[in-house]
Amino acid sequence: MINAQNLVAGEWQDNSKASTFRTLNPITNKPLPTEFQEASTSQIQAALVKAATVFESYASTSFNVRIEFLQAIQMKLNQSRNDLLRIYQEESALPRSRAEGEFQRTIDQIQRYIYLLEEGTFVQPKINTAAPDLRKILHPIGPIAVFGASNFPLAFSTAGGDTISVLASGCPLIIKAHPYHAGTSAVVAEAILKAIFSCGLPIEIFSHLGGVSHRIGGELVSHPLLKGVGFTGSLAGGKALYDLAQRRAEPIPVFAEMGSINPVFITEKRLLTDKNLAKILADSISLGTGQFCTNPGMIILCDPDGTCDLVSKVTDHLDKMILPPMVHSNIEKCYLEQLKELEEEAEISFFKASSNSSVIGIASASDILKNKKLTDEIFGPFSLFVECKSMDEIKDLVKIIPGQLTATILSHKDEHSQLISLVTQLKNKVGRLLFEGVPTGVAVTEAMQHGGPYPASTDGRYTSVGTDAIYRWLRPITFQDCPNTLLPPILQNENPLNIYRLIDGKLTKEAL
Ligand code: NAP
Repeated sequence: MINAQNLVAGEWQDNSKASTFRTLNPITNKPLPTEFQEASTSQIQAALVKAATVFESYASTSFNVRIEFLQAIQMKLNQSRNDLLRIYQEESALPRSRAEGEFQRTIDQIQRYIYLLEEGTFVQPKINTAAPDLRKILHPIGPIAVFGASNFPLAFSTAGGDTISVLASGCPLIIKAHPYHAGTSAVVAEAILKAIFSCGLPIEIFSHLGGVSHRIGGELVSHPLLKGVGFTGSLAGGKALYDLAQRRAEPIPVFAEMGSINPVFITEKRLLTDKNLAKILADSISLGTGQFCTNPGMIILCDPDGTCDLVSKVTDHLDKMILPPMVHSNIEKCYLEQLKELEEEAEISFFKASSNSSVIGIASASDILKNKKLTDEIFGPFSLFVECKSMDEIKDLVKIIPGQLTATILSHKDEHSQLISLVTQLKNKVGRLLFEGVPTGVAVTEAMQHGGPYPASTDGRYTSVGTDAIYRWLRPITFQDCPNTLLPPILQNENPLNIYRLIDGKLTKEAL
């Protein structure tokens, strides 16, 4: 059963006066039956006030309590799996294999946070015993709002990476559900609520608010009791919320992961020797009908003689593919409008696949250098192939490419010594630099970086994928000459949690 109401501080609240909205089936473009209620101003207010009330009690829960909570969320999600996958497919049109894969990824990334809490050192306890006695630890920052992402109805939505990093950190959470998959989100929210009940945690730590107007996000981010925001979506949306947060009387951090063209650079010798390039690139461009933030939106070829036939081979592959529709008609509309604008604005040639919505643009480096707009993201199965005559031309191009989530250099081993300056340039542009493979596919591990210099994200020092994502919701606090009994257990002399601490520069589990 899908709950059409808003979950306010742990209670589903009916509001007969609320405006309602429905989700669409992207295959038929017909509305699905459930009439979801938009969250009201008073519901937003109640969610924040109650979250702030329970903040300290949730922040001080032990890691074991939070581990049990995350395990309970896994269990409740598994119990709802069949319903969830059905609703996910109705609302997104993504194939069953993707639904199953994303469900498993959601469970697995929760498991990563369980391991993080078990190990415990993520709060980075540091102690200096010389006078004064200083003891430092990372502490949760307060109620956080997370905006569900349209392109990942499970793994980046109501129980996705942002959410779980918030709950693992000890911060209360208010979800702004993405309206394109409101039903999927509501079923996940119910699973989280059941987990809260089963663990006896304060129900006020979790709210799930829906709606199709920017009012809800705007009111959430402007609310004085909110302390941070997690967002994945468009540059326009992320920047608008960031600006709003900075205009508050008390500005707060907004960790927005936004657009990226994820340039892929292919060297001369690699172009000549790698027979698999065309298929690998076509698969990556079209994966998930192009709706990945790591989609390779620009492919830069070093082809001094202009003899390379990679583009025609990629288009051959794309032409044969059958792709599902985009996850929502608005995203498709936006994709088609952006393509039309590009066609009108730029003197570049296009290839359009006959059996699906993928499009390839072909431009020269000088075209791009003359028109910086060509480096904007077009969200969908589109990639702009850029033909360069030399590595110097490639380096000129890199100078005008804005901050990116990723860049990829595909080269031949004989060329590595010529790549040093390109690598140096790219290190200052991206969050993740690949030397093999394609940027689509983001491993959820400790060493992953998913975030980059603006406009890829609003704060390139942080990641939204992988367990380091938790650092967005923690801040350091130092206790000076604090009585042992008043310290958080991790900093107490006896080291009751038996975790590694940095004591006078030495990493140890020893008690003091
Ligand atoms: P979006 O328009 O950025 O919206 C994402 C969420 O932010 C929605 O919940 C939306 O609320 C809220 N929001 C956006 N602007 C807001 C504002 N000014 N004030 C308050 N709330 C605001 O992204 P989308 O709906 O997912 O898709 C639209 C486009 O975003 C796509 O066509 C694509 O270009 C891009 N996108 C990029 C990525 C990426 O990873 N780079 C991922 C997904 C989408 P409402 O629903 O209430 O409007």
